[in-house]
Amino acid sequence: MANQGVLQAWLYGKECVSMEPKPARPYHLVLLGAPGVGKGTQAEFLSEKLGAVQLSTGDVFRAAKAADAGALSPAMQDAMAAMKAGKLVSDDTVIAMVRERAACLASGYGFLLDGFPRTVQQAEALDEMLADLGLKLDGVLNYTLPTEIVVQRLSGRRTCRQCQATAHVIFNPPKQDGVCDKCGGALFQREDDRPESIRVRLQAYEESTAPLAQYYDAKGLLITVSAEGSPAEIFARTEALLKQAVSD
Ligand SMILES: [Zn+2]
Repeated sequence: MANQGVLQAWLYGKECVSMEPKPARPYHLVLLGAPGVGKGTQAEFLSEKLGAVQLSTGDVFRAAKAADAGALSPAMQDAMAAMKAGKLVSDDTVIAMVRERAACLASGYGFLLDGFPRTVQQAEALDEMLADLGLKLDGVLNYTLPTEIVVQRLSGRRTCRQCQATAHVIFNPPKQDGVCDKCGGALFQREDDRPESIRVRLQAYEESTAPLAQYYDAKGLLITVSAEGSPAEIFARTEALLKQAVSD
């Protein structure tokens, strides 16, 4: 979860600051990775280690839904309206959202962008914004994992019919098979967590992200990281690759 101060800054246009002192060397990074590869955990590790501000569009949207609509920025209101109508938030709206908060990118802490850019058009807009701010990306971390491992990871999730709490058959098993630890309700596998649904989602992610990965690869910015192993192992790998790729 991104820190609340950053979310407040993003939603209400406050100054984007972190509790930590400013790092000597601010890192400007983009994170890519399919659902289930553990990108969120790596973002938290990286944010702690590098002092960079983590900006996740997923967190921003979740926070915006809970916020007072009148207090949101114009682009954010457009985004919420699209989501309420069950539509995708357009590239233009997403770009406008980030542009409104460009000051967050130039805070001096560095940033980790998660969920943006999502398309080549958004990536081009980001390049322009950064050029205007006199900044450039240090790298794009692309977390990859074979499809079948992601399917294994995600399809183990079970949800309680009564209280919606979740468990995982391998990583967070309930005390009693099929029974919710919290309320004793029955655990079941949601449609979204079935292997077929997960494969469809991964395929869609792959198709939409491939051009973006190519875009950054052509610029020499793509850093591909295997997301196999424990979060600590993945992080050690990330640090080593980052050190190699980024010269001070
Ligand atoms: Zn329950």
